Amino acid sequence: MSHPSAEDEVVELCSELIRIDTSNPGDHSGPGERQAAEYVAEKLADVGLEPKIYESHEKRSSVVVRIEGTDPERDALLIHGHLDVVPAQKDDWTRAPFGGEVADGCVWGRGAVDMKDMDAMVLAVMRERLRQGRRPERDVVLAFLADEEAGGTWGAHWLVDNHPELFEGCTEAIGEVGGFSLTLPNDQRLYLIETAEKGLAWMRLTATGTAGHGSMVHHDNAVTALAAAVGRLGEHEFPIQLTKTVRAFLEELCEANGTEFDPDDVEKTVEGLGPLKRMIGATLRNTLNPTVLGGGYKANVIPQTAIAQVDGRFLPGHEEEFFDTVDELLGEHVSREFVHHDIAVETEWEGPLVEAMAAALRAHDPQARPVPYCLSGGTDAKSFSTLGMKCYGFAPLKLPKDLDFSGMFHGIDERVPVDGLRFGVRVLDHFLDHI
Ligand SMILES: [Zn+2]
Repeated sequence: MSHPSAEDEVVELCSELIRIDTSNPGDHSGPGERQAAEYVAEKLADVGLEPKIYESHEKRSSVVVRIEGTDPERDALLIHGHLDVVPAQKDDWTRAPFGGEVADGCVWGRGAVDMKDMDAMVLAVMRERLRQGRRPERDVVLAFLADEEAGGTWGAHWLVDNHPELFEGCTEAIGEVGGFSLTLPNDQRLYLIETAEKGLAWMRLTATGTAGHGSMVHHDNAVTALAAAVGRLGEHEFPIQLTKTVRAFLEELCEANGTEFDPDDVEKTVEGLGPLKRMIGATLRNTLNPTVLGGGYKANVIPQTAIAQVDGRFLPGHEEEFFDTVDELLGEHVSREFVHHDIAVETEWEGPLVEAMAAALRAHDPQARPVPYCLSGGTDAKSFSTLGMKCYGFAPLKLPKDLDFSGMFHGIDERVPVDGLRFGVRVLDHFLDHI
């Protein structure tokens, strides 16, 4: 029986995964990941593996399988991807968000870049390699996870807490968001490999005052206290603090641009990044963005409490001063609690695994300049780093120069170039030969 090559199969796998709606609204009211998990498990079983499905809650399913390496002395490598996606408003889209259509050289749909593309690449590469009997030297653990888009509580976090044995021996991990290309105006092509992530603090603020009649003299108004605190948080600008990863990225960027790195004017350096400056700009400093506001129920009634939510992000190594500042800005009468809180992570840009990633990119794009960078958001890497793994974002994609890739994440008309998927398959295959 003849099989499609990995480069051909990846497109079909990506389409089919997109067609399985795994929208994650942040609670258990969505369709869950079970159907996608069963699909993935079947594709792995098809090539002789024995994947297992783990369910943290009804329909909240993750798949894990270990592929034995040829050298049992070596440490294992984890390759992880998430199966859930953020919801999509169908009317906003040019093509059906769960259609998985292949058109204009792209696979379209929710999850096309975040991250059913990588799930499909890993499946395609592993299926081909196992059919050909090409096992990697190290054990490779594959994990396809639930709930990343809501912080991983029912996916990566749950597995790390309840089944750490699955990851035994894993010293390093690759996952999203990295390995994608950024072509500069002078046609130099950077490939951004994630070596750090900001930490996150989603906070609920509660202001407490005295309830009363809106017509009377009143000096203890919860709405006034809350509004002032939200204003202070939203307008606060943290100082620029260059972490080792961000500094390394900016130096590489300047070198590729043929300019001198000026640590006193990094905002100008970031300005030249096009749409990506929104994300890279956010890695220069801690940030706070108010996102939800509420309180009261009638124009002439002063409520006793008012609430708000704020999305805070802090740089690796700067968590404590971040919260000191938040507490100063909150002032009296306003307290905070976490809706979700997770760590910042940062690892080394050196060693054989980094060399394997860089070499794989260069082998398939001679113009590639692999560079480390810090992600402004968070991924399941946070969970796996608590098991002591060095985590990298490496889901390789060669992208057209004019594509607003960072805008594709959670965006309308999310799509991934077919050529990019095929490139990613070649790079991952090369990488697995050298881990
Ligand atoms: Zn993602």
